[in-house]
Amino acid sequence: MANANAPDDVDWNDAARMELEPDAIHESEDGYYFDCPECGSPATIENIIEKGRCNGYLNEQIESVGFDVENVSCSARLQLEMAYTSDPESET
Ligand SMILES: [Zn+2]
Repeated sequence: MANANAPDDVDWNDAARMELEPDAIHESEDGYYFDCPECGSPATIENIIEKGRCNGYLNEQIESVGFDVENVSCSARLQLEMAYTSDPESET
């Protein structure tokens, strides 16, 4: 599926997918973030959605998080998905 936010050709069909558990979401003074599955650096929701990259790749330090992104190199492409379905119509 084409994603206007990700101009590069990324084949998301082959991407690893993981369900997000409540403990995968971290809260900092600068917002919510996940741990990058490749380099372990914080990946803020904003950066995942807007840039498709973690803060390690973007070299963007989160002041309130102790992870030093200065020497991190990362090739992970990130995308958040929300899966949706609805309850079957209840028969009344
Ligand atoms: Zn990363």
